[in-house]
Amino acid sequence: MSFFNNIDLYIKDSLINGKVCRFGKSTVNIFVSPISAQITDVQKQDYYSIVTKAVNIWNNFAPVRFNIINSPQNADIIIVWTKVGIKFEGMCKFPSIVASEIKKVTIEIGLPNPNSPKIITNETILHTVLHELGHSMGLGHGTDENDLMFVPHKKTLNTPSKNDIFVLQTLYKNAIGSTNISK
Ligand SMILES: [Zn+2]
Repeated sequence: MSFFNNIDLYIKDSLINGKVCRFGKSTVNIFVSPISAQITDVQKQDYYSIVTKAVNIWNNFAPVRFNIINSPQNADIIIVWTKVGIKFEGMCKFPSIVASEIKKVTIEIGLPNPNSPKIITNETILHTVLHELGHSMGLGHGTDENDLMFVPHKKTLNTPSKNDIFVLQTLYKNAIGSTNISK
């Protein structure tokens, strides 16, 4: 498969009903909810730092700028912490999309759960936050195993691939809602 076949599939997976669906603003505010799990403050701080790290990584490459804020009021993205279930380590939900413009996002990040067989390391959490932030900007799933957006997840990946960046740039240089995508 050629690079361009792959990239077309990746772009296609990033459209919603065939349309470009993304943020309209260039600065996207993120509120990181407090962790309520019974873990030490040091552990909590570790997890908050992972989010900061993921935000800084994307800010080096992404066409939008993530900005962590201290209150949920003006947040475009709210990160919440959940215990990992059997199925997922992370999830991205879109409570508000208006005319293909992403307005509000909720990202669930799974923390280690003694009752789940899944092993959740800090590395897993970093990868998960990066992947879910990718979805929040409008990315679908990648087609190359080196893409942050590839599934099944390769949890050691912690930087966007050239495909991830190319598709993101494609989404943000085309108008919201457009169906005729120029690359
Ligand atoms: Zn995904």
